[in-house]
Amino acid sequence: MQVPASCPLCELTGTGYGLKNKIVDCTDKTIVIEKFVMTQIISIANQKGGVGKTTTSINLSAALAKMGKKVLLVDCDSQANATTGMGINKPDLEFSLYHGLIGEAGIDDIIMPCILPELKMIPADVDLIGFEIEMVSAKGREKKLKELLQQVIEKFDYIIIDCPPALSLLTVNAFTASNSVLIPLQSEFYALEGLGQLLNTIKRVKASFNPGLKIKGILLTMYDKRTNLARNVFEDAKKYFNDMVFQTKIPRNVKLGEAPSYGLPVILYDKHSQGSKSYIAFAGELLKR
Ligand code: ATP
Ligand code: MG
Repeated sequence: MQVPASCPLCELTGTGYGLKNKIVDCTDKTIVIEKFVMTQIISIANQKGGVGKTTTSINLSAALAKMGKKVLLVDCDSQANATTGMGINKPDLEFSLYHGLIGEAGIDDIIMPCILPELKMIPADVDLIGFEIEMVSAKGREKKLKELLQQVIEKFDYIIIDCPPALSLLTVNAFTASNSVLIPLQSEFYALEGLGQLLNTIKRVKASFNPGLKIKGILLTMYDKRTNLARNVFEDAKKYFNDMVFQTKIPRNVKLGEAPSYGLPVILYDKHSQGSKSYIAFAGELLKR
């Protein structure tokens, strides 16, 4: 079935474009919302570098796929860490996200099979840097990723977007395409610093391009429960974000750091590790939100 950009009768737009059921009557918007079975598109974002965005993107995607969900992981960072972390050899790539965004390749040319049967990936390469520069004055530049993903939305239950460590055009594209933003917070001093800018960017995208955009939650990463510092970060996060902070915390775990060098998510590299258990627990908690 062709997926319309908005409900053809009531013009419900934004994130409601993941239409899977036929609309019979949409004079009442509440009925329409019930009939929109949504693929969840989640941006993993924090402009702070090295806080666990990519580790969360890879391992959440793999955990959801292992639970039987159809998942597409989109590497939206020119560092392409999610791509290599999933065992994809960048020099072998003919096309990557960049080519899809600028219209040089179709969506089917850039989606690749990946490690688990239920998991697919759109890889990135360093050329993604060019997108920011080339699109600087292009019309509709904030919606390029949304337009691309819209073509395959029906095939997936979850689309996870690994964002770059910047509030750049790529991040704005990710937010415009998403239902929600998941914010990993490293359990270190300064963890909450800069969050205001991130929340402002979410607010701006919500106002201009994507009224349905929500914050999915805050995930504490590299959490060491033995330290006061980690506990203080958790308490501060709870003070500001309340129930938005996930109960599951990702511990600092050596297997999580090693797994990408083998091109594997931790649940396949060492499924008994604390890192693996915590991302599986986190995926379970996320499914309930
Ligand atoms: P960037 O901002 O550069 O994209 P990022 O936010 O995506 O970084 P990651 O690449 O996921 O962060 O993590 C940074 C480094 O910390 C990596 O080397 C990763 O393997 C390691 N790391 C992430 N989470 C953990 C953890 N829970 N335990 C141990 N090491 C971790
Ligand atoms: Mg990263």
